[in-house]
Amino acid sequence: MTKINKTGKKEAFINLITIGKILKGRATQIVSVVDRWEAERGNRSKVELFIMKYMRILYRMIRRTFWCFADSPKCPICSARSNKYVTRNTKYRIYLCGSCNHKFVGNPWQEERIYSLYQGIDYFKKDRQHQGIFSVQDDKQWEGFIKDRWNSLVKNGILCSSPSRSVRCLEVGCCEGKLLAYLKKKGYDAIGCDVNKDICNLGKKKLGVNIINTPIEKCDFPLESFDSIFSFHTFEHLVDPVGALMRCFQFLRIGGKILLEVPSDDNELMNEDHLHFFSVNSGRLMLESVFGNCNVKENFYTNAQGKRLSSMYLSAEKLSTAIPSSQPRS
Ligand SMILES: [Zn+2]
Repeated sequence: MTKINKTGKKEAFINLITIGKILKGRATQIVSVVDRWEAERGNRSKVELFIMKYMRILYRMIRRTFWCFADSPKCPICSARSNKYVTRNTKYRIYLCGSCNHKFVGNPWQEERIYSLYQGIDYFKKDRQHQGIFSVQDDKQWEGFIKDRWNSLVKNGILCSSPSRSVRCLEVGCCEGKLLAYLKKKGYDAIGCDVNKDICNLGKKKLGVNIINTPIEKCDFPLESFDSIFSFHTFEHLVDPVGALMRCFQFLRIGGKILLEVPSDDNELMNEDHLHFFSVNSGRLMLESVFGNCNVKENFYTNAQGKRLSSMYLSAEKLSTAIPSSQPRS
């Protein structure tokens, strides 16, 4: 930088970059305000919605003009900056981390706006009806679904087929809590958390399960109070999956185990609900950075369009109270 500042022309160029960065910062602030407005659009007047529409156009113009001055978004798994723009969907720009092969959304919406997408019974319908599930209570419809989840918990060593003592477990992103109800019948002390208020209430009322309507990052369970924690197709939706995993680590007792199932299929890149597209490497790195160990197993699942896609199970055991300080190699 010192060498470049030697000539007046180059100083002017540096100044231009500085101005660009400032304007880019302002553009980001504008869009966060617009994002907040949009998240609450149901409560807005027609005049406000009209202004909002044009602010978004203005933001996009500023963004397109100054995007080249912006820093490359940081990889949310390994913090590397060597990221390459891959593609975009109608909501987000997707980047590939050159270090751990994690694909991620570089411009996620604000957390509260993202959570607003998962509200209401309609989300339950979108999520479940493609699997032939139309009712929370009809056990027949749920047979295959529950069997798959139960088998994955047993096969990955997270739960045993019949608990000989009281085992306390937590499902992150439990939706209506059908798996919790099944585990309760098996003798487990199962609890869940989910951001969808209506689904939580429906599950509690119809299935008699214990669900906390709070995102995992904000849950305040006693530390080291769970024997096992599991989560199916949830971590790819989180803004900060590593932060959420650290919270899970705190809630697990020593010797406790965790299982996450995340999609690993590039066909999901156009799924606008997903903020993360894990590779085997980035999934492993995420668990190893918190637990110091990780097992990866490949699997398949059916997505909302009824397509059979690949996913993976990531499991780990809590071996000590401290999160390993040394970063594993990617
Ligand atoms: Zn990375």
